[in-house]
Amino acid sequence: ERTFATRVEPLPSPGPDGSAAIVSLHDVTAIRRAERMRADFVANASHELRTPLSSLVGFVETLEGPARGDAEAMERFLPIMREQAERMSNLVEDLLSLSRIELDEHAVPETTAELGPLLGRVVEGLALKAQDKDMAIELSGADALPPVQGDSSQLTQVFQNLIDNALKYGRPGTSVAVRAETPDNGRAVGRHGQTRAVAVSVIDTGEGIPREHIPRLTERFYRVDKARSREMGGTGLGLAIVKHIVSRHRGRLEIASEEGRGSRFTVYLPRAEGAQTGRAAA
Ligand code: ADP
Repeated sequence: ERTFATRVEPLPSPGPDGSAAIVSLHDVTAIRRAERMRADFVANASHELRTPLSSLVGFVETLEGPARGDAEAMERFLPIMREQAERMSNLVEDLLSLSRIELDEHAVPETTAELGPLLGRVVEGLALKAQDKDMAIELSGADALPPVQGDSSQLTQVFQNLIDNALKYGRPGTSVAVRAETPDNGRAVGRHGQTRAVAVSVIDTGEGIPREHIPRLTERFYRVDKARSREMGGTGLGLAIVKHIVSRHRGRLEIASEEGRGSRFTVYLPRAEGAQTGRAAA
């Protein structure tokens, strides 16, 4: 269904047929849709912030009122308050990231990124988190990766989000595989399919994702299970951020999952053009 707006422009002098104005119709379907999406997004973001905020205010009021000076209540409430504050802070960080990425989404990064060492650092950074859940992260193929054209800090964010999700939704006692490949057999990305790709897959053997949800996972605030995502400290923005960064890099995100068995998120990125020596971008 399409939406039209009418515009009436009076003529400076009556036309030959005596007409006094031009009425034109403008198709504003896309504009209205964008406006609605923006309004939904603001409403969602506000709601996501309001929930931890009102809980935080509730605890403060309790500690100021009925539980004033109650050391035991304080001991009990403070960790919860910290958790709510952290949730808000994560959300604000993700919202800022998203808006920054959107701003330069049309400019392909000009820097070169060394994907291998970058993956090594991301995996190292998440090792403790994995250990806490009795999980491990196994990185393979990273040594042989050619440089890609990309922004190191944004690509770091991509793999941090994907591996973090694999740890969040993976089963304790299992490992997450991070598999880097340079498929030389003609798999290509890019607008005209001409650019050789580098592929990095993040594979978990966790709960998996029901098929009907897969196409919507990269929408902002879309979650399969809201309560579970919150409980894991998720903001619902991680995959939206991943999608925007990958698209800025003229890459592709592929999601495959089987309920009860696990998921695989594969990022295809074009290799760096020419033979510039791979110097990682700041
Ligand atoms: P969140 O902060 O909720 O994790 P994301 O945007 O990163 O938000 O992911 C959106 C939703 O996709 C999650 O809430 C979860 O339902 C689902 N999801 C993402 N990664 C996985 C995974 N590895 N296994 C199962 N479900 C996942």
